[in-house]
Amino acid sequence: MGAYLRFENVTRRFGSFTAVSGVTLDIQQGETFSLLGPSGCGKTTLLRMAAGFDRPDTGRILLDGKDITPLPPDQRPVNTVFQSYALFPHLSVRDNIGFGPKMAKKDAATIRRDVDQMLELVDLKAHADKKPSQLSGGQKQRVAIARALVNKPKVLLLDEPLAALDLKLRQRLLVELDAIHDEVGITFIYVTHDQGEAMSISDRIAVMNKGVIEQIGPPAEIYEAPRSSFVAAFIGDTNFLDGKITEAMDSRFSRCDICGFGSIVIDNDKPVRPGDLIHLSLRPEKLLVSRDQPAVSATENAISGKVEDVIYFGSHTRYWVRCGEWRLCAEMQHRKFQLDESPPKWGDTVWLRWHANDGFLLEQYREEDEELLTLPED
Ligand code: ATP
Repeated sequence: MGAYLRFENVTRRFGSFTAVSGVTLDIQQGETFSLLGPSGCGKTTLLRMAAGFDRPDTGRILLDGKDITPLPPDQRPVNTVFQSYALFPHLSVRDNIGFGPKMAKKDAATIRRDVDQMLELVDLKAHADKKPSQLSGGQKQRVAIARALVNKPKVLLLDEPLAALDLKLRQRLLVELDAIHDEVGITFIYVTHDQGEAMSISDRIAVMNKGVIEQIGPPAEIYEAPRSSFVAAFIGDTNFLDGKITEAMDSRFSRCDICGFGSIVIDNDKPVRPGDLIHLSLRPEKLLVSRDQPAVSATENAISGKVEDVIYFGSHTRYWVRCGEWRLCAEMQHRKFQLDESPPKWGDTVWLRWHANDGFLLEQYREEDEELLTLPED
């Protein structure tokens, strides 16, 4: 399928600073696509260029095959929802939503019908005559979404739309946004620095860092198969381990020496050979915690260490376990049967077990690059 919205080699500089650097990105019709990254990575700049509030220095933006780069915002079939809602305070909910169609000189009956449809979509019929100041944050954002959608844009741009709301409300609105997306079926581009939001709403995510895209893919692929340390650390939590390949067991598995706790088996998801220095990501939930030494197969690992920190999160507990030079974080989900057991506590010796498949090989280096490897932060 061809791209619906295409950023083609787009660069934007502010003085000597490059905010967006040669980004090429294809977004499909009807998908919810997120731009995710830390503050200052260039995601809002990219979105603003799609909206027409900003222009690329080089490159172009195509919508449905048409070059929209030179068009001003009001001539693009695109609307934006901002974190700050940007509602007209003196207008009612109904008139806020009807503002765009009114400016477009639609007739009164069409405006009424379209606004009613939007009020229904965002479940605000009962609040149609209220002013924004009489609404909650979540209701205001629903007005902003309705006000954007009533113009029947081809693409809806959402710039951190939930950032001003508390956690529970954010979670509820995410579900509502998803339902709205299913209903209207248009392309959503969602900017956020919150990986949980991006994971839960997106068909695909582009992870940005310093003006470039590090990885694009569906949420599960980004989480399960990060291509760089940056992505592995930014999406969820992870442990990083550095080591040296000592032996190729077969085409799939190798043995690797992790300084400080000895030899482990890894899955060669990238080709490696003895002597290579590797950087491995191991998610906390992949590490199984036990008091007793587990029996392991040839493709599993078990190491022991001392519990240095325990944090209880209700649904799960996180353990920080000192294993030689490394401090590994392991996450244990709570199951009913475990309530009878006494969970490990600070100072206890525990075993961490994982399968070679659970680790993820990131960057690798030849021996001459040894100084590139770093120990993880405590
Ligand atoms: P945040 O989540 O904090 O909004 P972001 O990823 O959306 O971050 P951008 O707003 O795209 O980041 O900004 C990217 C970089 O470009 C930042 O370092 C920012 O300071 C810089 N920048 C953005 N707009 C301008 C501008 N008009 N003039 C100068 N620098 C700018």
